Amino acid sequence: MKKLIYLDNAATTKTAPEVVEAMLPYFTEHYGNPSTVYSLGGESKKAITAARETIAGALGAQTEEIYFTAGGSESDNWALKATAEAYKSKGNHIITTKIEHHAILHSCEWLEKHGYEITYLPVDENGVVKIDELKKAIRPETILISVMFANNEIGTIQPIREIGEIAHEHGILFHTDAVQAFGQVPINVDEYHIDMLSASGHKLNGPKGIGFLYIRKGVKIRSFVHGGAQERKRRAGTENVPGIVGLGKATERAMATMKERTDKEIELRDYLIDRVLKEIPYTRLNGHRTTRLPNNANFSFQFVEGESLLIMLDMEGICGSSGSACTSGSLDPSHVLLAIGLPHEIAHGSLRLTLNEEITKEDLDFVVENLKRIIDRLRSMSPLYEDFVKKNK
Ligand SMILES: *Cc1c(COP(=O)(O)O)cnc(C)c1O
Repeated sequence: MKKLIYLDNAATTKTAPEVVEAMLPYFTEHYGNPSTVYSLGGESKKAITAARETIAGALGAQTEEIYFTAGGSESDNWALKATAEAYKSKGNHIITTKIEHHAILHSCEWLEKHGYEITYLPVDENGVVKIDELKKAIRPETILISVMFANNEIGTIQPIREIGEIAHEHGILFHTDAVQAFGQVPINVDEYHIDMLSASGHKLNGPKGIGFLYIRKGVKIRSFVHGGAQERKRRAGTENVPGIVGLGKATERAMATMKERTDKEIELRDYLIDRVLKEIPYTRLNGHRTTRLPNNANFSFQFVEGESLLIMLDMEGICGSSGSACTSGSLDPSHVLLAIGLPHEIAHGSLRLTLNEEITKEDLDFVVENLKRIIDRLRSMSPLYEDFVKKNK
């Protein structure tokens, strides 16, 4: 059987074996409802508290500021829609960026239909938010700034501390979608002036369908899912105890291994980037060269169609992505690649490769050799490339 080289860790990650192991007893033995009075339920309750403490510790937050949700999308929807609702007497203006995940962008579109005004900040050619545009966009009625910590497609990390400072100088709440950054880069909610932060289990070797929203004490956001009194009456529904335990374990693991793991990933990421840029002509790197997620590489190959490239890589056991998984299936090029100024035809020839701790240099050598062969092959079939070569002879 061919070895699988999984380079789509921004889409989802493998659940770590120790995470699965930590979760199992909460299906089979400690299955009690945490809201009950008998000791079986008490076991579940204790486990939830322990996970909440671990996560709060990872962010420099207080335990009661962590609220469990069903993942990144729910956290993003909650942060935006509930804040908009709670602060509507103060204003109806929200600032975000053109390169957010669809969980943010589509929530903003929904809010626009309900009387809110949204400013979508532009980014520079590296995908970094333009701070002067942010300052210009602020109005007396601005209630929230939401800027992602790191981009899921091109990996660029934003100047979060600076953005948080600007928000707080103006008395505006600051939310960040840190789904890609949590567990990959150090985050401290006080240092970065963050009022709300979204994260998701399955992006850091935890289970799918569990995430959290950090909500700073004093932020007036109400329940988004109505029902029982769970999560301090802010998020109803019997707790996903195994999921919460798994997220806690994944967080503990990610924090303990962060330095060593990301140092290694950065080295391999740069090795991959250098080889691809040097050995494959008419190629560009998308996203900031250095201020990017440790495991993210994103390329555009001229005269190549991203989907064909993915299919041919899959035949070699290599998993990558041409846009974000959510937009695959549509023919629109990625909104992120368009926002950094790529023309449609170049955005279409893009490939995102996101590493994990198991990837080796040998794996990447195999990937580069295959990329060279496949791209040669695809270009040899492209009439555009043929014209280009003729013209440049
Ligand atoms: C994956 C992702 C989400 C959505 O998280 P889910 O847990 O899959 O709902 C939101 N934002 C970013 C930046 C992501 O990468």
